[in-house]
Amino acid sequence: TTIALVTDCLFCRIVAGELPATVVRETDTTLAFRDINPKAEVHVLVVTKEHYVDIATLATADRELTSDLMETVAVVAESEGLLADGFRTIFNTGLYGGQEVDHVHAHVLGGEPVGPMVC
Ligand code: 5GP
Ligand code: ZN
Repeated sequence: TTIALVTDCLFCRIVAGELPATVVRETDTTLAFRDINPKAEVHVLVVTKEHYVDIATLATADRELTSDLMETVAVVAESEGLLADGFRTIFNTGLYGGQEVDHVHAHVLGGEPVGPMVC
């Protein structure tokens, strides 16, 4: 199946292969790739191939796809060797959440202690 491309969206363009990314896992519905500006030893972004603006929109629109996204987070955490020492998953949402790319993505951060909860 072809997934509609939101042409102005950076992550849609990565999903479409129009922009390069270092992919660590791909499934039918999700893609995981390394953050271009890593904030930790391991910093992977996990996106749905289909465009949703944020996690709140996705989670209320498509439960199965939300689950696919979280499964990929878990599988990437395992394959990146993060399960023993732990890791952090972040969904920034909207202006106050500091979201810069308006295509839902989980940040998977680890490989070293990644600090306190806030900011
Ligand atoms: P947000 O602030 O929206 O939660 O996070 C967006 C993330 O996307 C940032 O961590 C930023 O470094 C990352 N990013 C921005 N542009 C690109 C890009 O072109 N390629 C990759 N791989 N990551 C990007
Ligand atoms: Zn998009």
